[in-house]
Amino acid sequence: MLSVVIESASIVVISLLFGVALLVAWWSFELDLHVALWALSFMAAAVGHGLRISGGIWKPQQELFAMLACHASIASFAFLAWGFRRRARKDARHVYLAWGVSIVVLVWAWMSHGVDWRTDSRIVTGLADAVMVAIIVATLRHARGAGRIARWILAFYGLYAASVGVAAWLARPGGEMSNEAFIAVLSIGTPTGMIGSGILTLLIVSADLARNLRDQARTDALTGLLNRRGTEEGAARLLELASETHPLAVVIADIDRFKSINDRFGHAVGDEVLRRFAQHIRTSVRKGDTAARLGGEEFLLLLPDTNAAEAFRLIDRIRASVPRAFDDMPELGNISSSFGIALAQGTQTFSSTLARADTALYQSKSDGRDRVTLATANTHQENSLVH
Ligand code: GH3
Ligand code: MG
Ligand code: MG
Repeated sequence: MLSVVIESASIVVISLLFGVALLVAWWSFELDLHVALWALSFMAAAVGHGLRISGGIWKPQQELFAMLACHASIASFAFLAWGFRRRARKDARHVYLAWGVSIVVLVWAWMSHGVDWRTDSRIVTGLADAVMVAIIVATLRHARGAGRIARWILAFYGLYAASVGVAAWLARPGGEMSNEAFIAVLSIGTPTGMIGSGILTLLIVSADLARNLRDQARTDALTGLLNRRGTEEGAARLLELASETHPLAVVIADIDRFKSINDRFGHAVGDEVLRRFAQHIRTSVRKGDTAARLGGEEFLLLLPDTNAAEAFRLIDRIRASVPRAFDDMPELGNISSSFGIALAQGTQTFSSTLARADTALYQSKSDGRDRVTLATANTHQENSLVH
């Protein structure tokens, strides 16, 4: 008996530790509510095991505590599943449904207090826990990499929870399994599952944080486009795929006389112009193309598998439709942009291609702005010779 109390007490402490860790992470990193739900899950587990200890100590009320402990166990799994649903931005109605049904069945089994109330409540708890884990596994079905491993581990955990339900049936009074054997099944799996899911949720929280930071470092906060750093990796990959027959078109766009927009209407209006321009180029290119903000009012487009004629046609269409993005801001007057295009055909570096596109852009500016210039293979060289 004492060993059961000690074991339950250590599970209470461990689940409280996980609950507090998740709660602190949620609070101090201002994380989404799913982390708080996970914290609640471990708090509920702590309460459940606390109730088991109380039942062991206060014998006359043992059944009441056992019944409440079953509710706490289901609540713990329900909060865990609810958190996973919320993290995936999916509704949790299956969680509410399974939770509601199991509460009703538990209460019914308790009220009717049949000959075998304990077996009924154990079966309901084991199966409800398994259903919650199944919901989590289904929610993670598109997970990749480490997420896929987590999914397999959770699937195993779900099978264990279901096997507790089956073991409860086998351990019914007069059944094939002794009550001690059933308690052994619980004692092996409960701490393992608790520690495993605690580590898993904390790992997910840190992996999500790391991904957010990485995304932020690659994204331009004003326009939501990739920033210069964000393009580097993708550009290197696209450049590797480029060849003479499948060239990569590298385009630099620069809004014309942008400084005067800032000067006349203020920085806030300037920012709005940048946002709209970004939106305009993002929605004008194809899926698989890249749109990025290099800095200031300078933007980059990467168009894989696009030859000179196609690139020119697409970019000139984008140029011609720039004013449409500002239809409802007539006070700004005519907004235009200049463009420079250079092709990478597999042998050039990204920076040399970017430099050629920049030279072509410079040409568009000196030719009077609001136009597109295509760099010939030797434009950069010619300019270098001129300067
Ligand atoms: P050009 O036609 O030759 O390109 O002239 P321009 O005025 O567009 O070019 P210039 O490079 O002289 O001016 C760019 C301006 O962009 C200067 C800078 O104050 C402004 N700018 C840079 N970043 C931001 C930003 O994030 N928000 C706003 N509102 N303005 C910015
Ligand atoms: Mg500029
Ligand atoms: Mg400009």
